[in-house]
Amino acid sequence: MGTIRQVGLVILGISFFTFIALFGHVPRLRSTPIGWINRFMWSVFPRWLSYIDRRFTGGYIGPLVSGIGNYLMNEKHPVIMAFYLTLDFCPHCRYSARALRVYPYDHVNFRPGVICRTCHLRKPARSKHCSTCKHCIAKHDHHCVWINNCVGQLNIRHFIYFLGATDALLTYGVYLTFDILQNVFMLRAVIPSNVPMSSLPWSIYMHLLGIMIVEEIYIGAVFLLASLTGILSYGFTIYHLYLIWAGTTTNETIKWSDWQDDIKNGDILIAEPDESPPYAEDDEYDEDELCRHWPKRTTQLFYRRDPENVTELPRGFLWRRVESLSEMDNVYDLGWSKNFRDVFWPREL
Ligand SMILES: [Zn+2]
Ligand SMILES: [Zn+2]
Repeated sequence: MGTIRQVGLVILGISFFTFIALFGHVPRLRSTPIGWINRFMWSVFPRWLSYIDRRFTGGYIGPLVSGIGNYLMNEKHPVIMAFYLTLDFCPHCRYSARALRVYPYDHVNFRPGVICRTCHLRKPARSKHCSTCKHCIAKHDHHCVWINNCVGQLNIRHFIYFLGATDALLTYGVYLTFDILQNVFMLRAVIPSNVPMSSLPWSIYMHLLGIMIVEEIYIGAVFLLASLTGILSYGFTIYHLYLIWAGTTTNETIKWSDWQDDIKNGDILIAEPDESPPYAEDDEYDEDELCRHWPKRTTQLFYRRDPENVTELPRGFLWRRVESLSEMDNVYDLGWSKNFRDVFWPREL
C-alpha cells in the first residue's frame, strides 16, 4: 500500500473516531451504530481497561490516569489555554438577576422557582450550574477546555468567532504547508518541470505527497496536524451553527434527547388547550411581565409516565400520546434569522 494511502487512512480513521467520541451521544445518532460505538468507547472499553489494570498492576495505573484526566477535563488548568494565550476572552458569563428577564421558562426543560443549591440563586430559564466554574451560567451551552471557561449567553458569539478564526488559521496552515510540499516536488525534480502538476493522475499525485510528507517530516507533520485538527474545528463550527439555527444549545439538546427516549418508550402524553392553564404561582416572579419582549409561548402541556411514581393524569384536558419530538414546541426557536440575531446581538445582562 502506498505511503500516502496509509497516511490518508490513518487521518480518516482518527477523524472518524474523534467524531464518534465527541458527537456519538447527540440525539440523532444515539440509536445508530455511531451511538453504540460511542457508548462502547466511553463505558465498556474503560471497564475492560480497568479490569486489565487491576489484574496486572494491582490497580496502580487507573487512578493515575483518571487523576490526570480529571485534572485536564474537570479542573481549571492552563495546559490547553497555553496554546490560546491571546484568545482568553469572555470572563463574564456568570449572570445577574437581570438574566431572569432574557428568556421565559418553557415549562418543559426549564421551570420557574428552581433555586441553585450551590449559588442559592433563582435559576433563569436556559441556565445551568457549571461545577468547574462553580457558578450558574446564563444560557449555558457547554464548559470548554479550549478557553478554560463556560460558553453561554454573553460569550457564545465570541466562541463562534474563535472557531471561525481557528478554521481560517488551520485552512491557511494546510494551504501553506501543502504549497511548500508541492514546491519541494518541483525543486527535487521528482517530476519533470514540463509536466504540469494538475495533469498527474490522482493516485500518483497522492503517492508523491506521501513521500514528501515523510521526506520533509517537519513540514509534513504540520500539514498532517493542521489537516486533522482542521476537520475537528470545522466539525465544531458546523455543529454550533446548526444549534443556533435550530434555536437550542448543547445543554438543551441533552435534555431534548431524554424527551426523545421517553417518547420512543411511549411515556409522554400531550394536551394542547387553547389557552395555557395557570402554572403554579411564583409570587416573586411574573414571567409575562419580565419577558414581554420574547414573542413565543406555548400552551402545550406534558405528562411523563413514571412507573415508579404513578400519579393521576390531570383532568380537564384531552391527552394523547406524543409520537415524535417534532410535536413539541421549542419556545426558544424563533426561526433561523431571529435565532442568529439573538446570539450575535444578545440582550445585555
Ligand atoms: Zn449555580
Ligand atoms: Zn464552566
